[in-house]
Amino acid sequence: MSLLPLHLLGSPVLRQRSHEVGAVDDEIRRLLDDMYETMDAARGVGLAANQVGVTRRIAVVHADEDRFEMIDPVILENDGRASAEEGCLSIPDVYGDVSRPERIVLEATDRHGKRFRKEATGLKARAIQHEIDHLDGILFLDHLSLVKRQMLLARYRREHKDETGFIKEVQAESAGRE
Ligand SMILES: [Zn+2]
Repeated sequence: MSLLPLHLLGSPVLRQRSHEVGAVDDEIRRLLDDMYETMDAARGVGLAANQVGVTRRIAVVHADEDRFEMIDPVILENDGRASAEEGCLSIPDVYGDVSRPERIVLEATDRHGKRFRKEATGLKARAIQHEIDHLDGILFLDHLSLVKRQMLLARYRREHKDETGFIKEVQAESAGRE
């Protein structure tokens, strides 16, 4: 397994709609292993494939002590509404309150090529929706008001003005998850 470099805000791949996977093969399973490892090292609750430069509909989630991959995910049901703070491994140190459906039913393919369904609420439901957004080229910033988004973006650009390029190497860490 290996750590994959993360694409940060500004990388065009974060704005692309990712392609369906269909059949799951060893190459996809290797990518999943690397994505889990990268998510853990970066201490995220989720990671979408385009965040590591691969425009396929694949994401991994580790939230509320549930750890799973979703390939070609779709949301079958959603209800309620909840607002909570979100961040993103591709937009370091930026956080904002996002309103989303509170409960969802997910359908996706697992690493063995089997479709499964999962009901989720709270943080897990939020993480699933955040990752599926990534697969459609949507970032959590897009859910904020224009004023709030511009404020956060201005601060982000100020704090990252010395960085060149949109790729960040993830360091292996033994520290606990956030
Ligand atoms: Zn994200």
